[in-house]
Amino acid sequence: MPAAVPADNAPPGFHLLAKPSGSTCNIDCQYCFFLSKEALYPNDRHRMSEATLDAYIRQLLESHRTPQVTVAWQGGEPTLMRVDFFRQAVALVEKYRKPGQIVKHTFQTNGLLLDDEWCAFFKEHDFLVGLSVDGPRELHDTYRVDRQGNGTFDLVMRGWRLLREHGVEFNILCTVNAANQAHGRAVYQFFRDELGARWIQFIPIIERATEQTIQLANLGWRERPGHQRVLYTQSGNIVTQRSVGPRQYGQFLVDIFEEWVRHDVGSVYVQLFDVTLEAMFGRHLLCIHAPVCGQGPALEYNGDLYSCDHFVEPGYKLGNIHETHMSTLMALPAQREFGEAKRDSLTQQCQRCEVRPLCNGGCPKDRFALSREGEPGQNYLCAGLELFFTHTRPAMQKMARLFSAGRPPADVMPLMKADDKRRDPYSPCSCGSGRKFRFCHGSTVRGAAAVAG
Ligand code: SF4
Ligand code: SF4
Repeated sequence: MPAAVPADNAPPGFHLLAKPSGSTCNIDCQYCFFLSKEALYPNDRHRMSEATLDAYIRQLLESHRTPQVTVAWQGGEPTLMRVDFFRQAVALVEKYRKPGQIVKHTFQTNGLLLDDEWCAFFKEHDFLVGLSVDGPRELHDTYRVDRQGNGTFDLVMRGWRLLREHGVEFNILCTVNAANQAHGRAVYQFFRDELGARWIQFIPIIERATEQTIQLANLGWRERPGHQRVLYTQSGNIVTQRSVGPRQYGQFLVDIFEEWVRHDVGSVYVQLFDVTLEAMFGRHLLCIHAPVCGQGPALEYNGDLYSCDHFVEPGYKLGNIHETHMSTLMALPAQREFGEAKRDSLTQQCQRCEVRPLCNGGCPKDRFALSREGEPGQNYLCAGLELFFTHTRPAMQKMARLFSAGRPPADVMPLMKADDKRRDPYSPCSCGSGRKFRFCHGSTVRGAAAVAG
């Protein structure tokens, strides 16, 4: 059994994502390259054993020197493990919890297998459940399909209703992809008005491929009889047809921000907006836009620990927690270098960029484009990130000033309304859509955006 003493030079806290059923999933989302990771563990039953669960919980709690620890489950699809597995996890947390240690449980799911038993369990143990939804039915069902190719919207909504009925705290995780990229406001309004969501997170879909793999990649990542299988790795500088466009990603976020900043500050939490406001004060809550990263490792079902959930590939395996304590693995120079490379590999364009303190070049996994000067290593999303951070900066600055003066950031909304009153309603909308303000974000009809519009 690895030593119980945390390594001195390990980070005091980190956010580990555990994959108890590996990358195995019960549906076949076309953009999910994690499905290809099954190829890393062939001929294996991808289920975390009791011994690995025990080692994981014990080492996680031993490793933390912060008052709060998050036990985060994701997949693949973690509901493929039975509820009893997680009952055991909760019992182990009680067994190994240090005096005064606060433990939060989070659980990311596609929602298909949720039932009364799951939801009662989540409620009893105060889990925060992330539900994957890509928008209203026609957008969600484009890529989030089962193995027969049928949309999963109805089953996800069934899971959502059960979560609500049991009073489980939930957030929405929405991918931004080629199908929904032009419908930011409609997607957001659906979550806010139809699902009653108060916490929303957006994740861009960027599936890289090479000239050799693009054809297969465009078909999806699951193993198919008679087809050669591709293991997704962070290589290649072309993207699948399902991937979000760089500028479109920024426009999607701006579309939502313009709605949020007029109506929902303080009542709906959009992760990137919160994170950006914090970054105005030099605090970085999300690895993607922090100067350095490396504190979000991923644990596979068999105890293998990787640098990050996006780098579950052979070159980024730190070791196995049955052989080496998790805190020792987190203290490895390779992991520190992984995190610092995020800062040290910024292109000249990023280093000169006005919004660099907010953006910090984005996630290294997405840095496969060329900068304006032709330097490799520019973020594929740069045009969209620049648009989002530049566009939202004046309102973010107002909110930061309000906050510094002891007032809630929500007080920005009356300021926005006063500005809007002075605006010609037939002038182009501030979101950049090209539509007249009155018929775009200036509309007084709540929930006015439609997918077709
Ligand atoms: S590689 Fe990207 S997702 Fe992984 S820890 Fe770094 S910034 Fe976060
Ligand atoms: S907006 Fe583009 S240039 Fe600026 S820091 Fe982000 S990725 Fe770099």
